[in-house]
Amino acid sequence: MSYVVGHKRNLELLKKILTGPKRPHALLFVGREGIGKKRVAVLCGAMFLCEKREGCLSCRHCKRVLEGVHPDFRLETPKGKRAILIDQIRDLKEWAFMVPMEGRGKVAVVDDAHLMNQQAANAFLKTLEEPPEDTLFILITSEPSMLLPTIVSRCQTVRFSPLSREEVEEVCEREGVQGEIRKTCVETGSLMFLSVKEEQIERARALANRILQNPSLKMMGEGEAFRDQKSFMLFLFWLRRELNKKLAKMNSGRLWELHRRMKEVERLAYSSNVSPRSLYDYLLMGML
Ligand SMILES: [Zn+2]
Repeated sequence: MSYVVGHKRNLELLKKILTGPKRPHALLFVGREGIGKKRVAVLCGAMFLCEKREGCLSCRHCKRVLEGVHPDFRLETPKGKRAILIDQIRDLKEWAFMVPMEGRGKVAVVDDAHLMNQQAANAFLKTLEEPPEDTLFILITSEPSMLLPTIVSRCQTVRFSPLSREEVEEVCEREGVQGEIRKTCVETGSLMFLSVKEEQIERARALANRILQNPSLKMMGEGEAFRDQKSFMLFLFWLRRELNKKLAKMNSGRLWELHRRMKEVERLAYSSNVSPRSLYDYLLMGML
Protein backbone atom coordinates (compact mmCIF):
# COMPACT_ATOMS: atom_id res chain seq x y z
CA MET A 1 0.00 0.00 0.00
CA SER A 2 1.50 3.32 -1.00
CA TYR A 3 1.19 6.52 0.97
CA VAL A 4 -0.04 8.45 -2.06
CA VAL A 5 -2.65 7.22 -4.54
CA GLY A 6 -2.02 8.20 -8.16
CA HIS A 7 -0.07 11.32 -9.26
CA LYS A 8 2.83 9.22 -10.52
CA ARG A 9 4.06 11.79 -13.01
CA ASN A 10 4.01 14.57 -10.43
CA LEU A 11 5.91 12.41 -7.97
CA GLU A 12 8.65 11.79 -10.51
CA LEU A 13 8.77 15.48 -11.34
CA LEU A 14 8.97 16.42 -7.65
CA LYS A 15 11.74 13.96 -7.01
CA LYS A 16 13.74 15.62 -9.77
CA ILE A 17 12.95 19.09 -8.46
CA LEU A 18 13.89 18.23 -4.89
CA THR A 19 17.14 16.50 -5.71
CA GLY A 20 18.15 18.73 -8.63
CA PRO A 21 20.82 21.39 -8.47
CA LYS A 22 18.46 24.37 -8.75
CA ARG A 23 15.76 23.75 -6.23
CA PRO A 24 13.06 26.46 -6.20
CA HIS A 25 12.30 28.21 -2.91
CA ALA A 26 8.60 27.56 -3.19
CA LEU A 27 6.23 25.15 -4.89
CA LEU A 28 2.53 25.70 -5.46
CA PHE A 29 0.33 22.60 -5.62
CA VAL A 30 -2.88 23.32 -7.54
CA GLY A 31 -5.81 20.94 -7.90
CA ARG A 32 -9.29 20.19 -6.65
CA GLU A 33 -10.13 19.20 -3.09
CA GLY A 34 -9.70 15.65 -1.88
CA ILE A 35 -7.21 14.29 -4.41
CA GLY A 36 -4.21 13.94 -2.09
CA LYS A 37 -2.20 17.14 -2.61
CA LYS A 38 -1.46 17.36 1.10
CA ARG A 39 -0.20 13.77 1.18
CA VAL A 40 2.13 14.53 -1.72
CA ALA A 41 3.38 17.59 0.18
CA VAL A 42 4.09 15.47 3.26
CA LEU A 43 5.86 12.96 1.06
CA CYS A 44 7.98 15.81 -0.36
CA GLY A 45 8.87 16.70 3.22
CA ALA A 46 9.97 13.11 3.72
CA MET A 47 11.94 13.03 0.44
CA PHE A 48 13.69 16.23 1.37
CA LEU A 49 14.64 15.21 4.89
CA CYS A 50 15.06 11.46 4.32
CA GLU A 51 18.33 9.80 5.28
CA LYS A 52 18.51 8.27 1.80
CA ARG A 53 17.12 11.37 0.10
CA GLU A 54 14.27 9.38 -1.43
CA GLY A 55 11.33 9.43 0.98
CA CYS A 56 11.78 5.82 2.04
CA LEU A 57 9.11 6.29 4.74
CA SER A 58 11.00 3.99 7.07
CA CYS A 59 14.06 5.95 8.24
CA ARG A 60 13.85 8.02 11.41
CA HIS A 61 13.45 11.27 9.45
CA CYS A 62 10.65 10.00 7.22
CA LYS A 63 8.81 8.46 10.17
CA ARG A 64 8.81 11.69 12.12
CA VAL A 65 7.64 13.68 9.08
CA LEU A 66 4.68 11.31 8.70
CA GLU A 67 3.87 11.62 12.38
CA GLY A 68 4.11 15.40 12.17
CA VAL A 69 6.85 15.59 14.82
CA HIS A 70 9.98 16.29 12.75
CA PRO A 71 11.48 19.58 13.98
CA ASP A 72 12.39 20.61 10.41
CA PHE A 73 8.96 19.94 8.93
CA ARG A 74 5.92 22.07 9.47
CA LEU A 75 2.34 21.97 8.25
CA GLU A 76 0.22 25.10 8.59
CA THR A 77 -3.56 24.82 8.23
CA PRO A 78 -6.41 27.33 8.52
CA LYS A 79 -7.50 28.01 12.08
CA GLY A 80 -10.79 29.01 13.64
CA LYS A 81 -13.02 30.61 11.07
CA ARG A 82 -11.29 29.00 8.11
CA ALA A 83 -8.52 31.54 7.74
CA ILE A 84 -4.75 31.59 7.92
CA LEU A 85 -3.87 34.52 10.12
CA ILE A 86 -0.93 36.90 10.31
CA ASP A 87 0.32 35.38 13.58
CA GLN A 88 0.60 31.98 11.96
CA ILE A 89 2.63 33.38 9.09
CA ARG A 90 4.86 35.43 11.44
CA ASP A 91 5.52 32.30 13.44
CA LEU A 92 6.22 30.31 10.30
CA LYS A 93 8.60 32.97 9.05
CA GLU A 94 10.55 33.01 12.30
CA TRP A 95 10.83 29.22 12.19
CA ALA A 96 11.83 29.25 8.51
CA PHE A 97 14.78 31.54 9.17
CA MET A 98 16.20 29.45 12.00
CA VAL A 99 19.02 27.02 11.31
CA PRO A 100 17.65 23.52 10.59
CA MET A 101 17.67 21.44 13.77
CA GLU A 102 19.03 18.39 12.03
CA GLY A 103 21.09 20.11 9.39
CA ARG A 104 19.42 19.02 6.18
CA GLY A 105 17.10 21.90 5.49
CA LYS A 106 13.44 22.49 6.23
CA VAL A 107 10.06 22.06 4.61
CA ALA A 108 7.06 24.25 5.38
CA VAL A 109 3.67 23.33 3.96
CA VAL A 110 0.76 25.79 3.93
CA ASP A 111 -2.50 24.01 3.25
CA ASP A 112 -5.46 25.93 1.76
CA ALA A 113 -3.06 28.81 1.12
CA HIS A 114 -5.85 30.86 -0.51
CA LEU A 115 -7.35 31.22 2.98
CA MET A 116 -4.50 33.48 4.09
CA ASN A 117 -6.12 36.77 4.92
CA GLN A 118 -4.70 39.91 3.35
CA GLN A 119 -2.23 40.67 6.12
CA ALA A 120 -1.04 37.08 6.21
CA ALA A 121 -0.65 36.98 2.43
CA ASN A 122 1.39 40.18 2.44
CA ALA A 123 3.65 38.88 5.19
CA PHE A 124 4.11 35.65 3.28
CA LEU A 125 4.94 37.52 0.09
CA LYS A 126 7.72 39.36 1.95
CA THR A 127 9.14 36.02 3.04
CA LEU A 128 9.14 34.81 -0.55
CA GLU A 129 10.81 37.98 -1.77
CA GLU A 130 13.83 37.23 0.39
CA PRO A 131 13.48 33.55 1.10
CA PRO A 132 15.58 31.68 3.63
CA GLU A 133 18.22 29.52 1.96
CA ASP A 134 17.46 26.27 3.73
CA THR A 135 13.68 26.19 3.62
CA LEU A 136 11.40 24.82 0.93
CA PHE A 137 7.86 26.20 1.02
CA ILE A 138 4.97 24.22 -0.42
CA LEU A 139 1.67 26.04 -0.83
CA ILE A 140 -1.45 24.00 -1.49
CA THR A 141 -4.61 25.39 -3.05
CA SER A 142 -7.76 24.48 -4.92
CA GLU A 143 -8.35 28.17 -5.72
CA PRO A 144 -5.18 29.63 -7.24
CA SER A 145 -7.03 32.71 -8.51
CA MET A 146 -7.60 33.74 -4.89
CA LEU A 147 -3.87 33.97 -4.20
CA LEU A 148 -1.85 37.14 -4.73
CA PRO A 149 -0.42 36.95 -8.28
CA THR A 150 2.89 38.09 -6.82
CA ILE A 151 2.94 35.00 -4.60
CA VAL A 152 2.02 32.69 -7.48
CA SER A 153 4.75 34.11 -9.69
CA ARG A 154 7.38 33.33 -7.04
CA CYS A 155 6.40 29.68 -6.87
CA GLN A 156 6.92 26.82 -9.27
CA THR A 157 3.40 25.55 -9.96
CA VAL A 158 2.66 21.83 -9.99
CA ARG A 159 -0.82 20.93 -11.26
CA PHE A 160 -2.69 17.91 -9.93
CA SER A 161 -5.38 16.11 -11.96
CA PRO A 162 -8.46 14.50 -10.45
CA LEU A 163 -7.97 10.84 -9.54
CA SER A 164 -8.90 8.25 -12.14
CA ARG A 165 -11.85 5.93 -11.63
CA GLU A 166 -9.45 3.04 -10.92
CA GLU A 167 -7.55 5.04 -8.33
CA VAL A 168 -10.73 6.08 -6.52
CA GLU A 169 -12.07 2.53 -6.69
CA GLU A 170 -8.82 1.22 -5.26
CA VAL A 171 -9.11 3.41 -2.17
CA CYS A 172 -12.83 2.70 -1.73
CA GLU A 173 -12.13 -1.01 -1.94
CA ARG A 174 -9.39 -0.76 0.64
CA GLU A 175 -11.54 1.33 2.97
CA GLY A 176 -14.61 -0.83 2.47
CA VAL A 177 -16.63 2.08 1.07
CA GLN A 178 -19.63 1.08 -1.03
CA GLY A 179 -22.91 2.38 -2.43
CA GLU A 180 -23.69 6.05 -2.93
CA ILE A 181 -20.54 7.26 -1.19
CA ARG A 182 -18.40 5.27 -3.57
CA LYS A 183 -20.35 6.53 -6.57
CA THR A 184 -19.99 10.12 -5.38
CA CYS A 185 -16.23 9.69 -4.97
CA VAL A 186 -15.90 8.17 -8.44
CA GLU A 187 -17.98 10.93 -9.97
CA THR A 188 -15.97 13.73 -8.33
CA GLY A 189 -12.63 12.04 -9.05
CA SER A 190 -11.70 12.80 -5.46
CA LEU A 191 -11.80 11.35 -1.96
CA MET A 192 -13.27 14.45 -0.41
CA PHE A 193 -16.49 12.67 0.49
CA LEU A 194 -14.91 9.36 1.43
CA SER A 195 -15.76 9.74 5.09
CA VAL A 196 -19.32 11.07 4.81
CA LYS A 197 -22.26 8.89 5.83
CA GLU A 198 -25.01 7.50 3.57
CA GLU A 199 -27.58 9.57 5.50
CA GLN A 200 -25.65 12.75 4.72
CA ILE A 201 -25.79 11.95 1.02
CA GLU A 202 -29.49 11.17 1.28
CA ARG A 203 -30.16 14.45 3.05
CA ALA A 204 -28.10 16.48 0.58
CA ARG A 205 -29.84 14.88 -2.38
CA ALA A 206 -33.33 15.29 -0.92
CA LEU A 207 -32.77 18.97 -0.15
CA ALA A 208 -31.30 19.60 -3.60
CA ASN A 209 -34.37 18.03 -5.21
CA ARG A 210 -36.79 20.01 -3.08
CA ILE A 211 -35.05 23.25 -4.03
CA LEU A 212 -35.34 22.34 -7.69
CA GLN A 213 -38.93 21.14 -7.55
CA ASN A 214 -40.73 23.06 -4.89
CA PRO A 215 -38.74 25.79 -3.16
CA SER A 216 -40.47 27.67 -0.38
CA LEU A 217 -39.73 30.34 2.18
CA LYS A 218 -40.09 27.72 4.88
CA MET A 219 -36.90 26.07 3.67
CA MET A 220 -34.88 29.12 4.66
CA GLY A 221 -33.85 27.78 8.08
CA GLU A 222 -32.64 24.47 6.72
CA GLY A 223 -29.23 25.90 5.98
CA GLU A 224 -28.52 25.48 9.69
CA ALA A 225 -28.19 21.78 9.06
CA PHE A 226 -24.83 22.44 7.41
CA ARG A 227 -22.71 22.31 10.51
CA ASP A 228 -19.52 21.79 8.61
CA GLN A 229 -18.11 22.83 5.29
CA LYS A 230 -18.02 19.31 3.94
CA SER A 231 -21.73 18.62 4.32
CA PHE A 232 -22.40 21.87 2.49
CA MET A 233 -20.02 20.89 -0.31
CA LEU A 234 -21.86 17.62 -0.58
CA PHE A 235 -25.16 19.44 -0.93
CA LEU A 236 -23.65 21.70 -3.60
CA PHE A 237 -22.38 18.66 -5.47
CA TRP A 238 -25.87 17.15 -5.60
CA LEU A 239 -27.58 20.41 -6.43
CA ARG A 240 -25.13 20.99 -9.29
CA ARG A 241 -25.64 17.46 -10.55
CA GLU A 242 -29.45 17.60 -10.51
CA LEU A 243 -29.52 21.15 -11.85
CA ASN A 244 -27.39 20.22 -14.84
CA LYS A 245 -29.69 17.31 -15.60
CA LYS A 246 -32.71 19.61 -15.53
CA LEU A 247 -31.06 22.30 -17.61
CA ALA A 248 -30.27 19.73 -20.27
CA LYS A 249 -34.01 19.09 -20.57
CA MET A 250 -35.55 22.52 -20.21
CA ASN A 251 -34.67 26.16 -20.65
CA SER A 252 -36.02 27.94 -17.60
CA GLY A 253 -35.07 31.44 -16.47
CA ARG A 254 -35.31 30.41 -12.84
CA LEU A 255 -32.97 27.50 -13.33
CA TRP A 256 -30.46 29.67 -15.15
CA GLU A 257 -30.59 32.14 -12.29
CA LEU A 258 -29.84 29.29 -9.90
CA HIS A 259 -27.01 28.21 -12.20
CA ARG A 260 -25.52 31.69 -12.01
CA ARG A 261 -25.82 31.87 -8.24
CA MET A 262 -24.36 28.40 -7.86
CA LYS A 263 -21.19 29.45 -9.62
CA GLU A 264 -20.74 32.30 -7.17
CA VAL A 265 -21.58 30.15 -4.18
CA GLU A 266 -19.29 27.32 -5.23
CA ARG A 267 -16.41 29.74 -5.56
CA LEU A 268 -17.13 31.35 -2.19
CA ALA A 269 -17.65 28.02 -0.46
CA TYR A 270 -14.17 26.87 -1.41
CA SER A 271 -12.32 30.15 -1.21
CA SER A 272 -13.75 32.19 1.67
CA ASN A 273 -15.05 31.86 5.18
CA VAL A 274 -18.62 32.96 4.40
CA SER A 275 -20.83 30.60 6.42
CA PRO A 276 -22.59 27.74 4.61
CA ARG A 277 -25.82 29.01 6.10
CA SER A 278 -25.57 32.42 4.42
CA LEU A 279 -24.57 30.83 1.13
CA TYR A 280 -27.49 28.44 1.32
CA ASP A 281 -29.95 31.29 1.97
CA TYR A 282 -28.54 33.20 -0.98
CA LEU A 283 -29.04 30.20 -3.25
CA LEU A 284 -32.56 29.63 -2.08
CA MET A 285 -33.50 33.30 -2.54
CA GLY A 286 -32.69 32.92 -6.21
CA MET A 287 -35.36 30.26 -6.51
CA LEU A 288 -38.20 31.94 -4.61
ZN1 LIG B 1 13.59 8.03 4.67
